[in-house]
Amino acid sequence: MIHVTKSFLPDIKEYIALLEEIWANGQLTNDGPLVIDLEKKLAEYLEVENFIFVSNGTIALQIAIKALALVGDVITTPFSYCATTTSLIWENCNPIFADISPISLTCENQQIEQVINEHTKGILTTHVYGNSADLSEQEKLAAYYSIPIIYDGAHAFGVKHRGRSIFNYGTVSTCSFHATKIFHTIEGGAIITKDSKLADKIKGLRSFGHKGDNYFDSGINGKNSEFHAAMGLINLKHFPQIKAHRKVSSELYETHLTSKVERLAWNPDNSRNFSYFPVIFPSENILQKVIVELNKSNIFPRRYFYPALNELPYLTYQACPIAEDIAKRILCLPLSAEISQEDINQICSIINSII
Ligand SMILES: *Cc1c(COP(=O)(O)O)cnc(C)c1O
Repeated sequence: MIHVTKSFLPDIKEYIALLEEIWANGQLTNDGPLVIDLEKKLAEYLEVENFIFVSNGTIALQIAIKALALVGDVITTPFSYCATTTSLIWENCNPIFADISPISLTCENQQIEQVINEHTKGILTTHVYGNSADLSEQEKLAAYYSIPIIYDGAHAFGVKHRGRSIFNYGTVSTCSFHATKIFHTIEGGAIITKDSKLADKIKGLRSFGHKGDNYFDSGINGKNSEFHAAMGLINLKHFPQIKAHRKVSSELYETHLTSKVERLAWNPDNSRNFSYFPVIFPSENILQKVIVELNKSNIFPRRYFYPALNELPYLTYQACPIAEDIAKRILCLPLSAEISQEDINQICSIINSII
């Protein structure tokens, strides 16, 4: 069976070596040595100042929203994973959907300007598939309205925008290190900000609002454990090979797939991390046929992202025609650190035979 993604697992001996360190040390969580080491190494690798490791990418978003004290209307993207929207709802914000650009599939200034007004308290959009809007222009727009931007960077691990870490743009960026992501810590996530004061506040919020032993602000438990950090430390070492394999695999798709399926227009200002291989079919009907045929060969792509988030049943509908159209026609093809050339050839010939 070939799934849309397959979690990378290192040699178990590498993990056991770190488990032995945990046993020797006796500390399992609460900012243990492996968590501290992982935070330091990831801050260096990603070239960011303040890197805060948390238990998942959704709590990362919620803590970011809480730390910025966002309430009321927040402009957000209809084309992302549902966590982007639900984190706003759980933090009592009101999601205002801007449609997406048909090119980058994220909210560019043009779309944001159509819905921004004096009630707008912030922006939360996603660097979908590691692609992004023009972020310098977006920062200028936010500065003009004096509102913060949170970027959901769950897909953007290691991506550079105009030569610097994409996580350095916006007020706060988040990432997910879930087992299905290109770099994972089993479950995990991160919050990144250039603002050191905000970073201190976020660290407090992550740990029940602890300030010393006996004083608490309000907070949540968003900490992560030594066991998760251990997986991250090992996977970080393997990341260059993981990325290289995904690059070669993406190039194979690129050359073998018929030109009748549309590829994503990658922003030339962004480096690529090869986190996903999305393709857009001429119609939803063809997409469904492709899924049926691939499933017959035990190949399971995923409709990332369907439905468009503005169509979630528990929300009051706000129209986003471009996002709704793209969500119906886009499919992420299987991509992992292990997928073989034969698998990719097979997937391409099945798709090519249908279109
Ligand atoms: C995976 C993902 C999340 C959620 O991350 P978790 O670590 O699973 O909580 C949020 N946003 C996007 C765009 C994602 O792909």
